[in-house]
Order: sequence, then structure tokens, then C-alpha cells
Amino acid sequence: MKQTYTVLLQGLLLLIAVLLLFVLLMGTDWAGLTNAEERSEQTAQRVGELMYDFINETEEVATDTALTNPVHQLIQKLCRDNGIDYSSVTFHVLLNDEVNAFALPGRQLVVYTGLLDECRNESELAGVLAHELAHIEQDHVMKKLAKELGFSMLSTLTNDGETLGLVFETLGSSAYDRELEIAADMAAVEYLEVAGLNPRAFADILYRIDGMQDSSPEFLDWISTHPDAQSRAEAVMDAVDSELPIPEPVLPSAMWDDMKAAL
Ligand SMILES: [Zn+2]
Repeated sequence: MKQTYTVLLQGLLLLIAVLLLFVLLMGTDWAGLTNAEERSEQTAQRVGELMYDFINETEEVATDTALTNPVHQLIQKLCRDNGIDYSSVTFHVLLNDEVNAFALPGRQLVVYTGLLDECRNESELAGVLAHELAHIEQDHVMKKLAKELGFSMLSTLTNDGETLGLVFETLGSSAYDRELEIAADMAAVEYLEVAGLNPRAFADILYRIDGMQDSSPEFLDWISTHPDAQSRAEAVMDAVDSELPIPEPVLPSAMWDDMKAAL
């Protein structure tokens, strides 16, 4: 008899739990949540396009595949091995002597030929690309802009130079966000290790840029907002798995040499 009561009680409790869950689920505005997410993705896409157009007015796009192929291959390798949706990432190689690369909203990555020139091997380039991919994956630029300017301003952003200037100014003038940079560096080490690229080379280029003159506009991510490159390089070395064997090259060596020859 006692056992029957226990079973009945358990059944009743289960029924109550299911009913509660049902009420909670009904009360959640699922459509609203999805719409909000879609809206913020659409806004990021649009803001990113406007920003890229703005940059593109004064820059020349590299059309030589000798320059774009290594970037393409390394981004693809990093994405595929790390479960990042490669097809959603757009990259642009621009003819500019600045040693720079940066992420834009809408999953865009911009690389300057000055960076391709500075990199001594594919792993150094992969290190910078991995850092920028981490900014993209963690939505850092949009978060920073939304915090400083507000989402509603961004969602109504139009193709007007003055407002876009303000967007860039905001990215440049808001305090250097060390936490985001460290997060991107640590994610980059992981991406590189998973993809079989050498994360120690990422530390090498960080050590080198530490001594470089900063002449680029401040919103550009790579150098100017990275004043303490040396301490970041040390943090990267600390994060590298010490058992890691020296990785095999990812790119055919001719591809790297062709890129260097095309610069
Ligand atoms: Zn960064």
C-alpha cells in the first residue's frame, strides 16, 4: 500500500513538473527572441558593409590571387578545423603598406598587404588572422560600438560620411579594451593549435610589432590598439602547450613565395 502511494506521489510530482515547464515555455516569446537576434545580425551586417565601403573609398583592393590565396587558405583552415562557419566570413586584402589587419561587424576581416610583407612565415600570418577571427567569433567590434553609441543609433546608421566618421572615431577614442584583446589572443592560440599551426610564431610577430612606430589610425585593430604587445607575446607563450610538436606547413611553399614575390 505504501509503495503504491509513493508511485502515485512520484507520478503527481512529474505531472506538476511537466505542467510547470509547459507554462514557462508558453510564456516565452520565442518568435520575439529569434526576431531580436535576426535584427541584431542584420544590423551588424549593414554596419559592417557601410564601414567597409567607407574604408574602401580610400583604399585599393588587391585582385592578384598570389596575394589573396594564402589569406584565403589560412582562414579556411582555421575555420574548418575550429568549427567556424567559413562561408559566413568575408575577407578583403587591401593594398596598403601599414602592418595591419582588423575585424569589422558582419563577420568581415580586412588584411593590409603591409602585414603580408611583415610576416616571416605562414604561422605568423595565421596568428594575426586567428586573433581577428576570434574578434569576429566573439562579436567584439559590434559589442564595443553598441556600448558606446547605442544599438538604436547603429540600426539607423546611413551612408553618410559624417556619421560613419563618428563610428570610426568612437572605435578609436574609446578606451583600449585589454580584456577583449587578451580574450582574442587566447582564442587565437587555441585556433592555431587545433589547426596544426605554430602559435609560437604568433608570439614572435607580437614581439616584433612592439618596437614598431604607430602611425595607423587608431580604430585599426592590430597595432595601434595593441600598445603592450610584449606582455601579450609573453602571455601567448605561457598559453602555448609546451608538448606541442613543431607543426608541418599548411600552405604549399610555392604559394608563400609567390605571395612574397607579388608584394
Ligand atoms: Zn585585437
